[in-house]
Amino acid sequence: MEKDVVKKIAQLVRAGATLTSYTCPACGTVLVRLKTGELYCANCERTVVLVKTEEEAQQALEVIELREVRKIIFDKILQLGKELERLSASEMIDHLRSMSLLLDIYERLSRVHVETAKATS
Ligand SMILES: [Zn+2]
Repeated sequence: MEKDVVKKIAQLVRAGATLTSYTCPACGTVLVRLKTGELYCANCERTVVLVKTEEEAQQALEVIELREVRKIIFDKILQLGKELERLSASEMIDHLRSMSLLLDIYERLSRVHVETAKATS
């Protein structure tokens, strides 16, 4: 392992990541598990998804895509929240209804994330 990669791993561990017994499929560097639960290669500087089957690979991809959708919904909720201040009470009801719907979806997407994270770890 390159010296600066070791240094990077040490930095990540100090920041709360943990060392794992897995190695990167691309370069063989030991992977660390980030606080978010993701496996990360300090050498390739990217997260690595461990999969055992085609099905799991597909599922992992879907989770990553869903996570992006979740982020968009999150931003929308924030945006709607900020707009509330300048709305009249009657306008607000529609707004809150939209926010409530978005929060429902956001919550469901969060669950998908957690369940699959468990399954792949
Ligand atoms: Zn790597």
